Amino acid sequence: VKCRKEAKAKLVDKWCCRKCYSSLVEQKIRHNLRNHRIEKGCRLLVSDRACEYVAKKVIHLPVTIVKNGQKADYTVLPWTLDDENEDFLKKFFEKKEIFCSENPKIIKLFYPISKDEMKTYLAIKKVPFKRGKSEINTLLDAFDEKYPGTKTALLSSEEKLRQIICE
Ligand SMILES: [Zn+2]
Repeated sequence: VKCRKEAKAKLVDKWCCRKCYSSLVEQKIRHNLRNHRIEKGCRLLVSDRACEYVAKKVIHLPVTIVKNGQKADYTVLPWTLDDENEDFLKKFFEKKEIFCSENPKIIKLFYPISKDEMKTYLAIKKVPFKRGKSEINTLLDAFDEKYPGTKTALLSSEEKLRQIICE
C-alpha cells in the first residue's frame, strides 16, 4: 500500500497513515480467516464488541452474529499473536501437552497481529476494548523492542514444532 499521507501508525516494520494501517490489518485478518470455512449464513458467537466489529468488517458474507447461549457454528475470540505466544510458552513452562489439532470451531480473530497492533486498530476505528497485558506479554514486548522480530519468530517456531509433532 502506498499513499502520500503522513504516517501515523506503525505496523510491524511499516509506518503508514491510519487508513492504510486499517486496511493492512483487515487484509491480514481476512487472509488468516481462510483457514476456516466460513459460509453464507454461518452463525458466529462473538465474545465482545471488538470481535463483532472486526468480524463484520472482514467477512464479506451475510453471517449471523449470536450472543452467549445461542447455537453457533464458530466462536470468535479476540486472540492475538501475543496470546498465541503466551499460550505456547506456558505449555513449556508448565510441561503441558502441545495439541496437534486446533479446534476448528474457534476463530482466533487477531492471530496475525500483536495486541498493540490490535489496540491501535481499534483506537483508529473508535471501538472500545479493555484488556491489559499479561506478564509474559509485557516481557515479550520488551524483548521484541530490543530484538525486533522475536515475537513473529516465536510464532513460526510454534507452527513448525506443531507440524513436526503432528506429522
Ligand atoms: Zn495511507
